[in-house]
Amino acid sequence: MFRQARFNEPLILEMGQNGRIGSNIEECELDINGIPRELLRSDLNLPEVSEVEVVRHFTRLSQMNWGVDLGPYPLGSCTMKYNPRLNEELAWLDEVQLIHPLQEMEGALEIMYKLDIALSSLTGMKRFTLQPAAGANGEFTGCLIMRKYHKDNNQERDEIIVPDSAHGTNPASAAMAGFKVVEIPTGRDGLIDLEILKEAVSSRTAGLMMTNPNTLGIFEKNALEIAEIIHDAGALMYYDGANLQGILGIARPGDLGFDIVHLNLHKTFSTPHGGGGPGSGPVGVKEHLEEYLPIPLVKFNGKGYELEWDRPKSIGKVRGWYGSFPVLVKAYTYLLSMGIEGLRLSCKIAVLNTNYFAKKVSTIRGFSLPFGEVYRKHEVVISAENLAKETGVTALDVAKALLDRGLHPPTIYFPLIVKEALMFEFTDTETKENIDLYISALKEISDIAYSNPSQLKEAPKNTSIGRLDEVFANHPKTMCLSYRMLKKSHASGK
Ligand SMILES: *Cc1c(COP(=O)(O)O)cnc(C)c1O
Repeated sequence: MFRQARFNEPLILEMGQNGRIGSNIEECELDINGIPRELLRSDLNLPEVSEVEVVRHFTRLSQMNWGVDLGPYPLGSCTMKYNPRLNEELAWLDEVQLIHPLQEMEGALEIMYKLDIALSSLTGMKRFTLQPAAGANGEFTGCLIMRKYHKDNNQERDEIIVPDSAHGTNPASAAMAGFKVVEIPTGRDGLIDLEILKEAVSSRTAGLMMTNPNTLGIFEKNALEIAEIIHDAGALMYYDGANLQGILGIARPGDLGFDIVHLNLHKTFSTPHGGGGPGSGPVGVKEHLEEYLPIPLVKFNGKGYELEWDRPKSIGKVRGWYGSFPVLVKAYTYLLSMGIEGLRLSCKIAVLNTNYFAKKVSTIRGFSLPFGEVYRKHEVVISAENLAKETGVTALDVAKALLDRGLHPPTIYFPLIVKEALMFEFTDTETKENIDLYISALKEISDIAYSNPSQLKEAPKNTSIGRLDEVFANHPKTMCLSYRMLKKSHASGK
């Protein structure tokens, strides 16, 4: 019978018996005389385990995990859609996996060149660098480009404007690139307030970082007017493309007035994420910024493809080699297999899923839709503020209660501007049946909250571990980012 994995399973280091072996390695004569003595270790204490113990251990670990291949993963802002196996298989071909960047294989360069063209035409940009390792790395790259551009134009501009609904990486990237962050509040309609923006803009403004659709899932319909305000002030428009799914194939950031764009290939373009990557955050720019892109770029010389290093105005390199190549391959094959019509359809289904869900959930007692009934794009933020006020059951409790029902919870407490936020993104690949499952689970949780709220304070009960003490895990005195944290918190009864 299947046994649910529990957190107090022995670690691989705690398993085995002296002398037990998992493989036979031939004796070999090894000359260790050349190795410095302090580097020779005799106290490694490696586990002595059989092959089947190893297989069971790692299989059990894999079963303790959750992934989009197991069920819905509506983690808002992350676009956790299903990544078709086709793209995975192509990225695992030997021709992709077994090449070294120094080989500068023509085929690999061609894929990068053509991916650049595809992304450029999809976003209305002139050219992309495929180097950045993720969205945040792309933002940093974009900020460095803004800095260099203004410097070249003898402009002293040290401020970047970021709405308060932005992802935390936006202000962090701007600060890392040496800018002062000017935060502007979101208006009552969930959008950037034009009057407040006008007041924030000055001759010190280097640019505006904007997410559209924003993190509330609402399309910033004033994008063109905003771009005009920013451009009139001599500043640049930066597009955080993490939410591209909401307008994919339908609107282009370039046409909405943006000068710089980053995309998250691990969100929108078929690479699984979570667990540490690798990801990819290509950055595209319009013509006036092309010369600042990181080196090298791939160019077509009329006969073949080559790397272009001689770019004197480039900001330099932002990552080793040319980017996360297998991720680029997956994005490219995804684009080819979907085609523009397929991408457009995926956008429409994602938007339909979101609004179907939003409409249904907003009628459940305790949950509301902040910023009104305006249509959402690829994601929606529900507020459990009323539920918390009336029953004491918070967004965190709701998330834990979903876990008990075998459902992966949404993102909670983000964006920061919504109280008791639950941010759902079902993506284009989720079925109506599964969305209905969430709706009925939330209905059930609401019913329990109004009848027996203490029951929900104990959730989750059906998972490998119960409720974690989040302060314990984050407190500088007790923080321990390894399995020891679980052991410690268990020992302390948390
Ligand atoms: C995910 C995300 C980012 C950061 O991207 P990473 O690839 O995680 O570095 C930035 N902005 C928004 C809106 C996001 O959802």
